[in-house]
Amino acid sequence: MTPIWTIETPTPVRLHVTPGLRYEVLVVGGGLTGLVTALLLAEHGVECAVLESGRIGAGTTGASTAKISLLQGVRAQQIRRRHSERMLRAYLQANHEAHQWLRQFCESRDVAIQNADAFTYAQSDRELAAVRREYDVLRAAGLPVELVGTLDTPFPVAGAVRLGDQSQVNPMPLLTVLAAEVESHGIPIYESSPVRAVSSGSGNEQLVETAHGVVRASTVVLATGTPILDRGGFFARLVPQRSYLTAYRLSDPIPSGMYISAGQPTRSVRSIPDPDGEVLLVGGNGHVVGRQDRTAEAVAELITWTAQWFPGATPLTSWSAQDYHPTGELPFAGSLLPGRDEILLGTGYAKWGLTNGVAAAHLLVGQLTGRTPDWSQAFATWRLFDWKSLPAALRANAGVAQQFSSGWLGAARAAPDTATPREGTGRVERHLPCPAATSTVDGTTTTVSAVCPHLAGIVRWNPAERSWDCPLHGSRFAADGSLLEGPATRSLPQLTSSSTAAAPKSER
Ligand SMILES: Cc1cc2nc3c(=O)[nH]c(=O)nc-3n(C[C@H](O)[C@H](O)[C@H](O)COP(=O)(O)OP(=O)(O)OC[C@H]3O[C@@H](n4cnc5c(N)ncnc54)[C@H](O)[C@@H]3O)c2cc1C
Repeated sequence: MTPIWTIETPTPVRLHVTPGLRYEVLVVGGGLTGLVTALLLAEHGVECAVLESGRIGAGTTGASTAKISLLQGVRAQQIRRRHSERMLRAYLQANHEAHQWLRQFCESRDVAIQNADAFTYAQSDRELAAVRREYDVLRAAGLPVELVGTLDTPFPVAGAVRLGDQSQVNPMPLLTVLAAEVESHGIPIYESSPVRAVSSGSGNEQLVETAHGVVRASTVVLATGTPILDRGGFFARLVPQRSYLTAYRLSDPIPSGMYISAGQPTRSVRSIPDPDGEVLLVGGNGHVVGRQDRTAEAVAELITWTAQWFPGATPLTSWSAQDYHPTGELPFAGSLLPGRDEILLGTGYAKWGLTNGVAAAHLLVGQLTGRTPDWSQAFATWRLFDWKSLPAALRANAGVAQQFSSGWLGAARAAPDTATPREGTGRVERHLPCPAATSTVDGTTTTVSAVCPHLAGIVRWNPAERSWDCPLHGSRFAADGSLLEGPATRSLPQLTSSSTAAAPKSER
């Protein structure tokens, strides 16, 4: 399950952080939000460093579809349902400025960026109402969208809304060049440096506990996808959404637009320029992390759909990734706690983080340097009187509570089994002192604690990624228990592990 972008782009390996260092600002997370934040801070002469748990690009940015668009599926109507037109305009202005910034950055640094029309399309007449609503809402907010009938796509389109002059990139060269630019200002980027906790030291200094020891800063920016600190309770205002992507080689020409369906199942389509011919990207089938057992089928369905509408498409790779949907629909950039500037965060981009992440970075740096943008209200981390978003937040948290109890009940009812799980499968069962999760991957059978160290959800096996995923807030762990992503900052403790020498390496 490797993203096509990371297969293609080699990236330099960087050293991990040394304990005892001190910076004005520590940016945690080396994705798009973190790197743009670091670059803007450097341009303001602020002394900072980036702490990345894995490698640059290992997070969602390096696994994204990487469309850069203000037409974002049906996001505008979702936002407008809960917020005023003024707020939607502020959101669009932030995304517009971020698009301009990205375009200018790419063009001035020779990062390939393609101009493309964006489409939100109806897969059938049933989705036409959503397409028209998106058109109406965006028109009212001042965007030059157009309604179009059928498109010259091989897949059926009952109607669409179009926005010209949008962009698409390969996110890995973008991150690689951003990182190099950050370093050219003398800002260190530390890889393999996971942050586990942040606490206050003397004089309000922040003590950042990493896997290698403590580093200090006046301010910490959490650019970690979902915030890794629970203070502020952002985990309860975000729904972790996982989606699937597939890439294909094609000999026939691919339509040049960026397409996303208005309804379910989502189908997101774009092309990738490639010197050896046409490459097609097809994504969709999103679901809440850890609440779908048929993850391998999600990939197979995308491949079947592509074979139907693009006969001759040869699959190259497939992968999945996750992003965080805010229950109040608007993204967050600002203080972790109200009125406190020592820990800031950016999150909740709802799978439109190429622009929202860049906008968040500008807002965070504006907050630190005393010049916040006019559209800041659309990203407020603490919004008073957002009553319209309350039902969605309650629904999301009721779902979390239900997953918590069904996970523990299911584990209590699952009698221990001595049989080794089949290759590529995993199961959770009763065990003392805590439920155990056993899986077999590449011939190694490993038993780890089934209890997520974040908020004690019971993890579930994800057959497509061969990982243990928490259905509460989206933390994910490898079969050996090591932390992959999410709000958790610790791995699942390993209970036992044994290897069958003759077992073949599984297809990933
Ligand atoms: C399938 C999919 C398709 C998408 N397609 C699009 C699209 O077409 N257009 C668009 O605009 N958006 C898209 N998005 C959304 C977009 O990719 C994300 O919103 C954006 O990349 C998020 O950037 P980020 O920097 O906030 O997070 P990330 O890129 O995830 O970066 C966060 C970084 O923090 C690091 N980290 C995490 N925890 C720690 C820790 N404890 N210590 C140190 N480091 C840590 C991670 O390793 C990671 O590198 C898509 C998302 C998905 C899931």
